Amino acid sequence: MNAAADVVILGAGGGGYPAAFFLARAGLRVVMADPLGNLGGNCLYEGCVPSKAVREASLIRATAGKYALFGLRGEKPGMEWKGVLAHKDRVQQIRYSQHAEEIRRSGVVFHKGRGRILDGRRVEIEAEDGTHRYDFRDLMIATGSRPHMLPIPGRELAITSHDLFRLGADLPFPARPVIVGGGYIGVEAASMLNNLGAEPAVLEYTDQLLPGFDRELAEALHAGLKRRVRIELNAQVTSLEMSGAGLLVRYLQHGAERSVSGDAVLMATGRQPVLPEGIENLGLSSRGPLAANDRLQTADPHVYAPGDVNGRSMLFHSAVRQSLIAAHNIVAGGQPADRMDFESVPFTVFTEPELAHVGLTEAEARSRYGAVEVARYDYATDSRAQIFDEMEGFIKLIFTGGAGRLVGAQIAGIEAAQLIAPLAVAVSRGLGAADLAEAVFPHPMISEGINKAARSFRP
Ligand SMILES: Cc1cc2nc3c(=O)[nH]c(=O)nc-3n(C[C@H](O)[C@H](O)[C@H](O)COP(=O)(O)OP(=O)(O)OC[C@H]3O[C@@H](n4cnc5c(N)ncnc54)[C@H](O)[C@@H]3O)c2cc1C
Repeated sequence: MNAAADVVILGAGGGGYPAAFFLARAGLRVVMADPLGNLGGNCLYEGCVPSKAVREASLIRATAGKYALFGLRGEKPGMEWKGVLAHKDRVQQIRYSQHAEEIRRSGVVFHKGRGRILDGRRVEIEAEDGTHRYDFRDLMIATGSRPHMLPIPGRELAITSHDLFRLGADLPFPARPVIVGGGYIGVEAASMLNNLGAEPAVLEYTDQLLPGFDRELAEALHAGLKRRVRIELNAQVTSLEMSGAGLLVRYLQHGAERSVSGDAVLMATGRQPVLPEGIENLGLSSRGPLAANDRLQTADPHVYAPGDVNGRSMLFHSAVRQSLIAAHNIVAGGQPADRMDFESVPFTVFTEPELAHVGLTEAEARSRYGAVEVARYDYATDSRAQIFDEMEGFIKLIFTGGAGRLVGAQIAGIEAAQLIAPLAVAVSRGLGAADLAEAVFPHPMISEGINKAARSFRP
């Protein structure tokens, strides 16, 4: 006989575990499974956390390049890649042991294993401790995403961000990496590896870094990064091959055949959803992202799909919010108790210069609202940016004309990822220029720029 569960959750990443804990606290019988056997999914195992642990090492080293500016003396630190990876592993292990304790206390039945869907009411979990079958009332598919590989000859020679950052990764340091793809994973890798001493080349298919991004932000990144990293736009990569001790990457650019060589090729060409086996037994498509509405329900109202698997906003903090929304709607018996506001999700790019945005771009806001007002703040006039000699940056706030409601913000420059948080609150809560102008922001921090830009708003 199958065991009964109110909710079965496949995947314990940001899309899975927040809902599991919430639903268990609400008194539901919750079963969760993940082959990683712990929480955090891709983000902790090979994504956000390890990549940012490596990036911090790279920033410390880069800051040492400014010793003289601060009146300090000393050599720029050498880089020991094994040590950098050990730091990353240590952070991952700390978080894994904390998460193991959270699982133990949660009341959730957790299996280290992979789930497959038998039919519209039953799943089977192939776990370390045997096979388990559950009847469920509601199902959450939070199985995330994996790197997408270009279908080109020689693709098996490439590595992905998973090979670089996963727990226990032991690849040699890529001193001359060729990075295929100028999306956020590609440019973050290029920036941090260069700060650690590498000479990367980035090949991007479209005519800008960060395709789909606000062009002013993408150009700010291009201007800063091109001083340190070779960047080729309009570059269509056609093949990879071994060449002597290294690798040769061939590409087409404006009709001409070109090539670049390196000691590693990082394929950073987007991510594709991971769907559980048996998804078609729910009457859902087994191809492409799993379509979900703003309540995170799929075409089957008892099946929810939060996180990367639905392809709508592939970030950890977005997955967490989506997970909780699905949980709120499950507790409400499938009634629309909560909905996801995808537009208020902040996006950050951890490069130098750092980028962040939330809400609408200026062009999007103009086409939606007609009249908009743009308020700007220039890092060149900021005390903290001057202290760090990081004066090439800006904060751009987009307000609706008249009412002055904040509908979007873009930031390029140091601390952009921290600065975007209060602006995400403002966009999601419908705050206006007066709210941001009348609040007091600390001096001398760059967040003052939000205050100053808002004060310059003229309806
Ligand atoms: C290099 C890199 C850097 C990143 N940096 C950032 C960042 O700085 N900030 C940010 O917000 N986001 C970042 N991301 C994105 C972030 O990692 C994802 O958006 C986030 O992990 C999505 O969470 P998720 O729960 O939807 O999916 P995942 O984290 O992919 O979790 C899905 C889980 O499902 C499990 N699973 C798969 N199939 C099954 C099955 N059949 N049964 C049971 N379990 C299954 C998997 O093992 C996995 O643990 C980064 C990603 C990468 C690759």
